[in-house]
Amino acid sequence: MHGLMMDTPLLITDLIRFADRNHGDTEIVSKTVEGEIHRYAYREAHARARRLAKALQALGVKASDRVGTLAWNGYRHYELYYAISGIGAVINTINPRLFPEQIAYISNHAENTALFFDLTFVPLVEKLAPQLKTIRHYVLMTDRAHMPARSAPGGSIPNLQCYEELMAKQDERFDWPSFDERTAAALCYTSGTTGNPKGVLYSHRSTILHAYGAALPDALDLSARDAVLPVVPMFHANAWSLPYACTMVGAKMVFPGPHLDGKSVYELIEQEKVTLSAGVPTVWLMLLQHLAATKSKFSTLDRTVIGGSACPPAMIRAFQEDYGVTVFHAWGMTEMSPLGTVGSLKAKQATLSKEEQRAVQAKQGRGIFGVEMKIVDEEGKDLPWDGKRFGNLLVKGPWIASGYMKGEGGNPLKDGWFPTGDVATIDPDGYMQITDRSKDVIKSGGEWISSIDLENIAVAHPAVQEAAVIGIRHPKWDERPIVVAVKKAGQALSREELLKFYEGKIAKWWMPDDVVFVEELPHTATGKLSKLTLREKFKDYRLPTA
Ligand code: ADP
Repeated sequence: MHGLMMDTPLLITDLIRFADRNHGDTEIVSKTVEGEIHRYAYREAHARARRLAKALQALGVKASDRVGTLAWNGYRHYELYYAISGIGAVINTINPRLFPEQIAYISNHAENTALFFDLTFVPLVEKLAPQLKTIRHYVLMTDRAHMPARSAPGGSIPNLQCYEELMAKQDERFDWPSFDERTAAALCYTSGTTGNPKGVLYSHRSTILHAYGAALPDALDLSARDAVLPVVPMFHANAWSLPYACTMVGAKMVFPGPHLDGKSVYELIEQEKVTLSAGVPTVWLMLLQHLAATKSKFSTLDRTVIGGSACPPAMIRAFQEDYGVTVFHAWGMTEMSPLGTVGSLKAKQATLSKEEQRAVQAKQGRGIFGVEMKIVDEEGKDLPWDGKRFGNLLVKGPWIASGYMKGEGGNPLKDGWFPTGDVATIDPDGYMQITDRSKDVIKSGGEWISSIDLENIAVAHPAVQEAAVIGIRHPKWDERPIVVAVKKAGQALSREELLKFYEGKIAKWWMPDDVVFVEELPHTATGKLSKLTLREKFKDYRLPTA
């Protein structure tokens, strides 16, 4: 017997219609590329999204067409999120930090028919345009006053149009169409450390379910009392759902545009009374440096979500103890929309010491309802949730990819489960801890050494700014770990001192074989340590122990 409840489709435009109705005067504030502050509220954002939907249709964009963006976090990008998906087309948010050849590959693979981009990217688009085979319309996300002259930079982009001019030609009388909730809505390519990037194609249904999950108290804990600053870019896995989940709950949104340095982020947080922010550890490093250098404190920031790569315990301590900001350590991936786990405490942990609580928070967190997890050994056999045994982490659920755009890479699933490529433990309370990416784990004498654990210890040293641990070939042990570290400005630290710092914190055979100090470490386009580049750089490195 079927239930007798309405079967209304879960559509992305329902979010903005809801926010207009219920939170019409709640603000969306953007720091623009030009540096000014733009502010409006959900009601106007919705009106402009409807105009934009008409403008897209006037350009000939039809259901299922893909439309690319190269843009920072800002109100126009937000409008594009809703207008493109709202007419049944697909928004392809491209990471502008990728190599130009990768951007061209992605746009051609997605077969984008139009490209919307911020002023910052005029030189990039000029250079790329001859390679972008499917784009019929180039739209600069600005007003007439900021449009380049024909002979100026950008003058050579074919068919260049002005966002605000396209909008001005339309009115807001538009009814969002209804369609199957499984319709594709957004397309995001994973950076793909090897081979070409692969496209993850989200649906309306997966996006709404993921937004519900993201907003839960034990996930991002979002409400209409929050002002949220997504530092995580809208071109990186939908800014972890914030443009959707904030709209769902009617939270104020604050977009930083390209201004991601510590000072700018701090000022925006203070000025707009931000209560929650989210981003990768690298950005928080810049913010913490700024706070320390200027002896500043937060007046409203209450919690921060840190994920994308492992958040070092030292960073959790600094935020919580020095600045009174609770850290939610989160884990996920583009293929998971991206949220999988978030680390919040349970009632029984409330009486633990601060240090014990931080040890729980340093794990990657508990699964959100909607994400099933399991860990398996090399043969694919289930491993117990004892917090000790580690194995390959697999996931399953309605916001997890079942395959890639155009079937690229074949069927990724194993018996219906998605292999994350991460190696993890899960404890009896359900807290998952990543010990490594399967390709970064260091294999020494048939056993595994966690590069993340060794990195966390290095960055806990007061003189260390950032550290990466990689495996180096060893004639006897197969691989041995070395620490590649950046010292804090003006700090002295020797190889021996850092190695001494490891003593008593790890098993003897985990002790790094060497320490190398460098000026800076390589990062990927999503702000993570690029171990691949680092391994490449150190491929001829001779261990002192070899
Ligand atoms: P890319 O690496 O191409 O940017 P993703 O953003 O999808 O792609 O990265 C997902 C991966 O990032 C995960 O599989 C995991 O290895 C790593 N990751 C994400 N969050 C965390 C975290 N909190 N701790 C450790 N690793 C993380």
